[in-house]
Amino acid sequence: MKTIYFDNNATTQVDPAVLEAMLPFLTEMYGNPSSMHTFGGKVGRYVTEARAQVAAAIGAAPEEIIFTSCGSESDNTAIRSALQAQPDRRHIITTRVEHPAVLSLAQHLEKNGVEVSLLGVDAKGRMDLDELRAAIRKDTAIISIMTANNETGTIFPIAEAGAIAHEHGVPFHTDAVQAVGKVALDMKTMPVDYLALSGHKLHAPKGVGALYVRRGTAYRPFLRGGHQERGRRAGTENVASIVALGKACELATAAMHEENTQVRALRDRLESGLLAAIPDAVVNGDTANRLPNTSNIAFKYVEGEAILLMLDQHGVCASSGSACTSGSLEPSHVLRAMGVPFTFAHGSIRFSLSRFNTMEDVEYVVRELPPIIRRLREISPFRGEMTGKPACTC
Ligand SMILES: *Cc1c(COP(=O)(O)O)cnc(C)c1O
Repeated sequence: MKTIYFDNNATTQVDPAVLEAMLPFLTEMYGNPSSMHTFGGKVGRYVTEARAQVAAAIGAAPEEIIFTSCGSESDNTAIRSALQAQPDRRHIITTRVEHPAVLSLAQHLEKNGVEVSLLGVDAKGRMDLDELRAAIRKDTAIISIMTANNETGTIFPIAEAGAIAHEHGVPFHTDAVQAVGKVALDMKTMPVDYLALSGHKLHAPKGVGALYVRRGTAYRPFLRGGHQERGRRAGTENVASIVALGKACELATAAMHEENTQVRALRDRLESGLLAAIPDAVVNGDTANRLPNTSNIAFKYVEGEAILLMLDQHGVCASSGSACTSGSLEPSHVLRAMGVPFTFAHGSIRFSLSRFNTMEDVEYVVRELPPIIRRLREISPFRGEMTGKPACTC
């Protein structure tokens, strides 16, 4: 059975051109880029090239890019750096819909004496800039707002939020892990001080990321040790993955417009096909301002986990935001923050596409999913009794 992969916001396929670019560094070119000899130095030149490629993708200067092990490390580094560099500031602002890389760190910091303001979102997942203005204090160390949400694709007004932060003298961080390669980002014009990105969300391998730190921004390393990354992030460079990240950034930005157009057409056909065939289904998120690859659809009266299981039997990979824990079915924190009603939130499925998907993939799901939903609704505990909470079945 063919695998149809609609879970690209969880991770992506490595592009064959990316794999080709990285392979020599897993075989003959194994030198340490920090070594004095020619053999190592030759490898160092490729790290330099990759840094320039990553920088170019976001309109940054190469020296503003620090290679890290993942998007989560980049997010953690940015927020911790701002707190360490401003010891008299013990307040941070972020949103209720961030990825756990930010949200769970914020919760941890809160237990350790940092005050956290969590900004809400409306029913479409949109933030309110006035709420941000009102939350800023004299002791705010950093404002961290994602560029695009991984569950709904909703895009945030980063330029506006960054400008508000700067008006108040507060550093601004954005988790752009889902946005790089899909949303135009230019650090030359955007008031952003820190930006996190990750390789495996843009067709590079897992385990490599980067943190942009604007020149002049106070910075404290997260990992201390050797003097790699000009003393800003210790650890011998993951050369193969760094080269891969550079190549992936180059590919993603070179074809961004075409790719967005192509992927958006697939996503829109998937969405309209499913909505036309399935009653009581609605799109979660801001359809007017959304990543072109993401569609989060709520199918009323059914459980997301059941849908995923049936899709899986048909070779289709998608995802649901809900986490089933300790006897209660809790919808995702993102859908909860949006106030998506219970009977919808539980049946929410995220489809996230990439340039490797085809119209055949889409038509297959448009054909196979409606009968699945019909069958599940026939046996749904929600049916006829839409207010009562069902027993957990997971
Ligand atoms: C995947 C993701 C991350 C984490 O990136 P890793 O490289 O997996 O650590 C952070 N933020 C967002 C929005 C993501 O989608």
